[in-house]
Amino acid sequence: ILYRQIKVFYLTYFIFAHIIIETIFSIMRVAMNRIYNFSAGPAQLPLEVLKEAQEEMLDYRGTGMSVMEMSHRGKDFGKIIAEAEAELRSLADIPKEYKVLFLQGGGNTQFAMVPMNLMKNREADYILTGVWAKKAAKEAGIFGKVNILASSEDKTFSYIPDCSDLPVSSRADYVYICENNTIYGTKFHALPDTKGKPLVADMSSCFLSEPFDVKKYGLLFAGAQKNIGPAGTVVVIAREDLIREDALPGTPTMLKYSVHAKENSMFNTPPCYGIYICGKVFKWIRSRGGLAAMKQVNEEKAKILYEYLDASRLFTPTVAKRDRSLMNVPFVTGSEQLDAQFVAEAKEEGLLNLKGHRTVGGMRASIYNAMPKEGVEKLVRFMEKFEKEHGKQRDV
Ligand code: PMP
Repeated sequence: ILYRQIKVFYLTYFIFAHIIIETIFSIMRVAMNRIYNFSAGPAQLPLEVLKEAQEEMLDYRGTGMSVMEMSHRGKDFGKIIAEAEAELRSLADIPKEYKVLFLQGGGNTQFAMVPMNLMKNREADYILTGVWAKKAAKEAGIFGKVNILASSEDKTFSYIPDCSDLPVSSRADYVYICENNTIYGTKFHALPDTKGKPLVADMSSCFLSEPFDVKKYGLLFAGAQKNIGPAGTVVVIAREDLIREDALPGTPTMLKYSVHAKENSMFNTPPCYGIYICGKVFKWIRSRGGLAAMKQVNEEKAKILYEYLDASRLFTPTVAKRDRSLMNVPFVTGSEQLDAQFVAEAKEEGLLNLKGHRTVGGMRASIYNAMPKEGVEKLVRFMEKFEKEHGKQRDV
């Protein structure tokens, strides 16, 4: 009996040890092959989320199929979308008088949907802080009069204009901002005073990176591909009184918020897989302590990079200190050739997609929620090394 007990003990011990070692190795293998992706979007997603999706890929929780293959009307997907919405509501403390919609068509479709649904007086106020706000204003111009309340175009959008006392138009249906400017790396750290008009915000590149007060917005939207999931899903959070039946005449059914709101984002086939991943990312954020914890880590990461940039003799940050984004950090060396060399050498080190947007050049490090602190530390170590090797080149 004793012999048998010893045998069972060792066998169990051996199996457990084997499973643990295998798991550690498989995590290491995945982690080792993965680079640090500083892309502005589609961007790096949490490894834990990807692994979980990988495990569920072929057989989602005993259904014998992947989430990509299941009916959006079935009970399994019904649970996935309901849970994703519930997680988001709890993370961002969304009041019940706000609708949460999971739509398609990216941020660009929102540039049109916003005026088509909200521009009753055919007039709206826009604040221009970059390419995306400009595109949104241009699109709104198709439907009505667009007033530009403030702009930072005079200094290549490197700052946020003073929005404390804006000439808000009495006829304006809403005031529009792009809250975090992905390309230029600026962020509204205080929301503009809209003088009672609904605030509409494009939060694509700062969504869930820190706590925010939903009640301050009439409508906000975010493309998923930066902080919350794969491209193809857009989250819209809108106050119910702004979701009205009387969209502008000619508005296609698919572009009416009221249609999607009534059907709980299931008017047509929604971006099922995207919603599934978003739901997992929302859970991941909660497991790490929610939005306040995200903010703390994001501030720590950004501080490492900005402090280095401010002290560097080779690299220069391009944004006014008080308006700096926690998510997108642009910088230049002042030499196009050196910039290109930096991007190429960084790639060799496993630090990818550091090239600035095609319209501005230089470099940009996007450090969204899923970018670990180690990624930023590795980047700064590499920048220090590069500065040592090439600093003199610029001084000549
Ligand atoms: N808004 C912001 C702030 C963006 O950064 C982007 C794209 N990077 C867009 C809108 C456009 O989004 P999409 O490509 O999904 O239309």
